[in-house]
Amino acid sequence: MRRLEGKYALVTGGSTGIGRAIAIRFAEEGANVAINYHSSREEAEITEDEVNKACRVIREHGCREMVVKANVADETAVARIFGEVIDAWGRLDILVNNAGIQKTSPTEEVTAADYDKVLGVNLRGAFLCAREAIRHFLSRDGGGIIINNSSVHQIIPKPGYTPYAVSKAGVGNLTRTLALEYAARGIRVNAVGPGAIETPINRAWLDDPEKKALVKSHIPIGRAGTPEEIAAVFAFLASDDSAYITGQTIYACGGLTLYPDFRTAWSSQG
Ligand code: NAP
Repeated sequence: MRRLEGKYALVTGGSTGIGRAIAIRFAEEGANVAINYHSSREEAEITEDEVNKACRVIREHGCREMVVKANVADETAVARIFGEVIDAWGRLDILVNNAGIQKTSPTEEVTAADYDKVLGVNLRGAFLCAREAIRHFLSRDGGGIIINNSSVHQIIPKPGYTPYAVSKAGVGNLTRTLALEYAARGIRVNAVGPGAIETPINRAWLDDPEKKALVKSHIPIGRAGTPEEIAAVFAFLASDDSAYITGQTIYACGGLTLYPDFRTAWSSQG
């Protein structure tokens, strides 16, 4: 399927995990893709290698690629990368706000700095990128598309991860508010809410069979998801197949949003 033929997309946090899978899926569908990341992790060399591989795959699909490094929480840096993309390509059609981080800590121990850092990347970053994309979309005919990577924790509380849960709830209303504000001007804004997906953000349980089994036991479908399964939902929302959908969050979570504790009738008298 080449539903994104000739489109130009920017994927934030596209160096690894879900973002990287989205970049590759978009290229499979015919889109030219700019990959953003910040190189915030220690294994920066591994990241560069992964980005180079993703760029090669994009080229193999006959699409153009570019890499625009920046911290999405930094207003000046965000303006710079949009300038770089639009200078190079003359246009942008699809923004994917995917960059995200999480930090775990009992809430009574969360520092203001850590709170600001998580909100800065996950919510301020999504806002700053959306604002730049909207300015560009409004400057030309044809509108545009914004897709935010939210989480099941947009609606499910996550004790021990207060800043993350707050940020994703914010992404939910960022999505709905922008969708309503710009619907009549050809801009569609949606979100994807992944459940537990096998990516580096989950390294705490990925390589530990016992912890992984525990994760699986909570998921109605019985397994964690893959980045490719999430990328497929992004591709749908980026394409005209979703032309009549705006302001929605599609949960791709193996049933995690279905109150899995109610799989058995424990709450009712036999
Ligand atoms: P990941 O593998 O850790 O990838 C995160 C990406 O974001 C990396 O490319 C990272 O690059 C980039 N990034 C981090 N801070 C950044 C910053 N300040 N500016 C620009 N880029 C930055 O995580 P993932 O699991 O693929 O998660 C991607 C998104 O999906 C996140 O928004 C996450 O909340 C959401 N999500 C994931 C899951 C899951 O189970 N995996 C579930 C629900 C939602 P650098 O480190 O090089 O900066």
